[in-house]
Amino acid sequence: MKFWFDAAAGKLDPFVLVLEGSVPNEKIKKEGYWAAMGTDPDTGQPITTNEWIDRLAPKALAIIAVGTCATYGGIHAMEGNPTGAMGLADYLGWNWRSKAGLPIVNVPGCPVQPDNMMETVLYLLYQVAGLAPIIPLDDQLRPTWLFGKTVHEGCDRAGYYEQGDFAHEYGSPKCLVKIGCWGPVVNCNVTKRGWMEGIGGCPNVGGICIGCTMPGFPDKFMPFMDAPPGAAVSSAASGIYGGVIRFLRSITNATVNKEPKWRHSRATLTTGYEPRHYGQS
Ligand code: SF4
Ligand code: SF4
Repeated sequence: MKFWFDAAAGKLDPFVLVLEGSVPNEKIKKEGYWAAMGTDPDTGQPITTNEWIDRLAPKALAIIAVGTCATYGGIHAMEGNPTGAMGLADYLGWNWRSKAGLPIVNVPGCPVQPDNMMETVLYLLYQVAGLAPIIPLDDQLRPTWLFGKTVHEGCDRAGYYEQGDFAHEYGSPKCLVKIGCWGPVVNCNVTKRGWMEGIGGCPNVGGICIGCTMPGFPDKFMPFMDAPPGAAVSSAASGIYGGVIRFLRSITNATVNKEPKWRHSRATLTTGYEPRHYGQS
């Protein structure tokens, strides 16, 4: 806790505050508390998460919310929750700025993809050192280069989708949209980046995308195993179009799998070569 107390006392400067986990609402709690870290030496009482944020946010050079709970509330902030949990921007305000003029930076994910987090920290360090322009963020405060594309756009199975070839059970290598994949409408780069050393990325390795990086997660993606709204229409259209395309491609594929007919060992040349006869009119 030493660094936390030092930072709050102004003895640690500059520092970047990294928040993990959602922010419960202590204002709705008449007695006790929802979440706390450390003890206030003056009162002997626990220091709540709300209080730590109140103490540290004004002094931080930048704040990074890491993971879907810290960014948007996540599972703790589901409908019906008792704690009033929320994301950091809900707590501090979406237009909040650090003393260096920086907005909150959100790196969602459940869990956060580790390289996404480290790359964001590194970017901010470059920015503070004057070696990079202001970090580009979208309207949900996500780094645009990490969250600008959908799961579907990077998915290894997108070729199956385009051909209207769908999995109907787990274990199939085909597109998972009919068994619940939300990839076409979810901003996440793990299908491109993988999880560890470039390996993994939910649909790439057989797991449906449940939208864990999204501000509407989990409520707007439940029940998880049902096909997303729109999937029936888009996959039906893709099924019709894809069926024709698949048929035509199978003919082309059979053709390009055969060698050209002029490759043989017979005593005649049938390549179409025509020798030039110089000096003849
Ligand atoms: S598995 Fe999901 S992300 Fe991949 S192609 Fe199908 S719908 Fe798109
Ligand atoms: S692919 Fe979907 S479920 Fe997997 S990490 Fe990305 S958003 Fe979450």
